[in-house]
Amino acid sequence: MTARDLLAGFERYPLTFGPSPIERLDRLTAHAGGKVEIWAKREDCNSGLAFGGNKVRKLEYIVPDAIASGADTLVSIGGVQSNHTRQVAAVAAKIGMKCRLVQEAWVPHEDAVYDRVGNPMLSRIMGADVRLTDDGFDIGIRKSWEDALADVEASGGRPYGIPAGASVHKYGGLGFVGFAEEVRAQEAELGVRFDYVVVCTVTGSTHAGMVAGFKPDGRAANVIGIDASFTLDQTRAQVLDIARRTADLIGVGDIADSDVTLLDGYAHPAYGVPNAGTLAAIRTAARTEGMLTDPVYEGKSMDGMLDLIAKGYFPAGSKVLYAHLGGAPALNGYGYTFRNG
Ligand code: PLP
Repeated sequence: MTARDLLAGFERYPLTFGPSPIERLDRLTAHAGGKVEIWAKREDCNSGLAFGGNKVRKLEYIVPDAIASGADTLVSIGGVQSNHTRQVAAVAAKIGMKCRLVQEAWVPHEDAVYDRVGNPMLSRIMGADVRLTDDGFDIGIRKSWEDALADVEASGGRPYGIPAGASVHKYGGLGFVGFAEEVRAQEAELGVRFDYVVVCTVTGSTHAGMVAGFKPDGRAANVIGIDASFTLDQTRAQVLDIARRTADLIGVGDIADSDVTLLDGYAHPAYGVPNAGTLAAIRTAARTEGMLTDPVYEGKSMDGMLDLIAKGYFPAGSKVLYAHLGGAPALNGYGYTFRNG
């Protein structure tokens, strides 16, 4: 099946460079013992829009709806160092809309410049109206976001709402259906077949889109979600719900509970707070491959993948594709953590 098959009929506004590159990580493979081949699909280099990342891919299928709605302001939400809101700010600039962002206090992290560097700084440079609030972590629909929508409207604007992670949006899962289609095409070109995809999961539509997209070739459950939310049950329920709605939209049949593999054990002590394993994994990927991962998301999925390899979770000879979803700008908010490298 090609990308045009599963996503035919859905309008896409191009924001990425095209298919994101896939590369073999030889030194990381050797570091992890050599029995399992590690590859990466680089969503972190997928676009020229403010360092790119997984949300740009999702937004390609949401922007046509935003434009059609007659909106003039994109309104979104995330934590202080949300990569998602930074990508919404970039897309708003690119399509000539205004941007209003709610940045909630999701992370109990006290780096002195946490709210002034990395993602929120980039969003401000791109002209977004960035508002900080004290609300804590929650992947669901938030009152602060609904208030922002009402506020934009009351000030005469025409808001278009994009929920956290662009996940609980009717088209939130489509971008990562496209990821699965791309992987199939790239597998044919490269002459390889990936046995597993490892993905970091928080608000859920990245993982859910992959589940729906890999359903037709029987690989949905081989998408190994590594939970970084630390609210596993809520995240799992949200992935299942989005996967079912997305599968329905693209017509690939029913998604079973067993199609969603979401593993815990790597998110502690909280969303956005790295543990010793996260930091070790960030340093390992950086020092073997020059590949930067972050303390909130990709460092946790990198830790999960390396730990699963060490425990023999993947049979010898497996080819594992690490979905690198971006997030490195948040490293700037952890300057003290990495003061000695
Ligand atoms: N990795 C990065 C870098 C992210 O910014 C996000 C966003 O939340 C994720 C992973 C998780 O993706 P999702 O929220 O779709 O589960």
